[in-house]
Amino acid sequence: MSCIFCRIAAGEIPATKVHEDDRLVAFKDLNPQAPLHVLIVPREHVVTLNELKPSQDALVGEMIRLAGSLAKAQGYDASGYRTVFNCNADAGQTVFHIHLHVLAGRKFGWPPG
Ligand code: AMP
Ligand code: ZN
Repeated sequence: MSCIFCRIAAGEIPATKVHEDDRLVAFKDLNPQAPLHVLIVPREHVVTLNELKPSQDALVGEMIRLAGSLAKAQGYDASGYRTVFNCNADAGQTVFHIHLHVLAGRKFGWPPG
């Protein structure tokens, strides 16, 4: 298994996990861009958003709901937070296993850079 996020999900390489269940794992980003920066990944390997199947709609919904509950647990629900899926080169995707960035604790610009 060469995918770094599959290996984190399997516990083969270390990460600071903040949530684990049978379908999802969330852990702190190694290079945080905000006071809160966690990544939510499905245990199932999906390369990019382009490969998602209709049968995975609920999985993506769980990822988004988990983002909200992790932000809320850290007290950022009212002040706000940013959720991001990057897809392929122009968006800056560097790890080819889908992941939802959850960022909070500072103001974020719009439009994004
Ligand atoms: P993206 O550019 O959307 O593909 O995001 C990949 C993210 O994964 C980046 O923010 C990296 O800092 C993060 N990352 C890469 N390797 C690790 C790792 N081993 N543990 C935690 N975060 C990682
Ligand atoms: Zn993977």
